[in-house]
Amino acid sequence: MPPFVTAPGFAELGSRFFTRLAPTPLPSPRLVSMSSAAAGLLGWDAHAATQRNFIETFAGNHVPGWAAPLASVYSGHQFGVWAGQLGDGRAIRLAEAHTATGPWEIQLKGAGMTPYSRMADGRAVLRSSIREYLCSEAMFALGVPTSRALCIVASDAPVRRETIETAAVVTRLAPSFIRFGHFEHFAAREDIGSLRQLADFVIDRFMPECREDRQPYQALLREVSLRTADLMAQWQAVGFCHGVMNTDNMSILGLTIDYGPFGFLDAFDANHICNHSDTQGRYAYSQQPQVAFWNLHCLAQALMPLWREADGKADGEAEAGKAATDAAVEAARAALDPFRARYAGAFFQRYRDKLGLRPTGGRDEEDEPLLTDLFQLLHTQRVDYTLFWRNLARISSADGSQDAPVRDLFMDRAAWDAWAGNYRARLRAEDSSDAARTAAMLAVNPKYVLRNHLAETAIQRARENDYSEVDRLLAVLSHPFDEQPEADAYAALPPDWAAGLEVSCSS
Ligand code: AMP
Ligand code: MG
Repeated sequence: MPPFVTAPGFAELGSRFFTRLAPTPLPSPRLVSMSSAAAGLLGWDAHAATQRNFIETFAGNHVPGWAAPLASVYSGHQFGVWAGQLGDGRAIRLAEAHTATGPWEIQLKGAGMTPYSRMADGRAVLRSSIREYLCSEAMFALGVPTSRALCIVASDAPVRRETIETAAVVTRLAPSFIRFGHFEHFAAREDIGSLRQLADFVIDRFMPECREDRQPYQALLREVSLRTADLMAQWQAVGFCHGVMNTDNMSILGLTIDYGPFGFLDAFDANHICNHSDTQGRYAYSQQPQVAFWNLHCLAQALMPLWREADGKADGEAEAGKAATDAAVEAARAALDPFRARYAGAFFQRYRDKLGLRPTGGRDEEDEPLLTDLFQLLHTQRVDYTLFWRNLARISSADGSQDAPVRDLFMDRAAWDAWAGNYRARLRAEDSSDAARTAAMLAVNPKYVLRNHLAETAIQRARENDYSEVDRLLAVLSHPFDEQPEADAYAALPPDWAAGLEVSCSS
């Protein structure tokens, strides 16, 4: 018996939202890794994987009594273009579990074809499963809202990508996997009843305060905008590039979901493109907040019938109809509008914290030149982003005597000295103690992030059936702000061979 009870949750919405089907079994399944932190969310302990049927269940070979598997349908905009119907092409939701930590949808990714697989095979390869698993748990430890990952099960079953790889299933957990694309789907079909049902479901379960608003659906849009703005500020601050910010990969709850060709910045490049398939750089690092806002406009467009309809003028005469449309667009704009200020505020707060500066009482613009100069400097000097912030924590506000570890990251030392002079002046102006500032900065500037080359090493070993590096990385990344001196090598600059790593949409 599982330590949780299940509820229909999303399944309560009815058959227009999903197809019930069983996962496709995988031959010779074996456990690669289990996150005991994620298992704890379901009420399981670190030995959960030794339970009877655990591996079979999370390989998709056994459907336990508590599961009622289904794949959901959604649509979306991919790379700025309407893509029509997509859906869970390889994800199968087993159940919604209820524990002390909340509702958790338990979803297998890579568990076989569904009615939404289109031309693809319904599988995920070991490589991308390891990347998603490690990054989900790493992002959680960094304090970034994210889906979680329970475990990876691997198989010898071949999967064709650019080369032949092998299949794996990663089990993900989230309170909900509803995407912007779920709303776009019903809006595109002009199925307003289902659209409203979906909005009501999200509001009642996850954003009940929206119900108090005079316009609950506009409040929903505003709430999603604010959550997304906060998430973008966190991605930027930690140097995370998602890589495929299509509207079908945007969580309605403001979580990071669908880890594919993501990457953390190594050498800072504002225009870094982590996804080799993104030839135009649509999802480059610097574009992420803008793209999120664009995606929110798609969501707004999808939700608009809910309040245009509420006006009761939708089918009226041409003139009344136009006035109603204008009013609906205006309402959508008003609901999206807070995104900018929220993002700017969250962005400044994150970077002020990273710099170890005290709040300015709303006068963010005073610190803007310091930040702008810094980004410029990091960009032109291609300074390692994570090492920079970590080492910055330990400089002295009095003089440059402690600068070496951070100064050495710059080719142009004089440029560093100039910026550091301004920074020190700013630190002295607020009269804080260096020890307290260092401690505060070390608590927000991680030492360990999932650099591509670290994931790559774990993947190579796993391909040789040695899964120890996956577990080791998981352990290190679960405490990204701790020194962990024995793991220093995981915090070092990427080796030369890492420059040749390419990550694409292929997963
Ligand atoms: P993504 O951008 O990777 O999140 O995927 C976009 C769409 O393609 C989603 O509908 C996925 O379910 C689907 N998809 C991606 N890879 C596969 C696959 N190997 N088999 C079936 N569907 C897939
Ligand atoms: Mg996706």
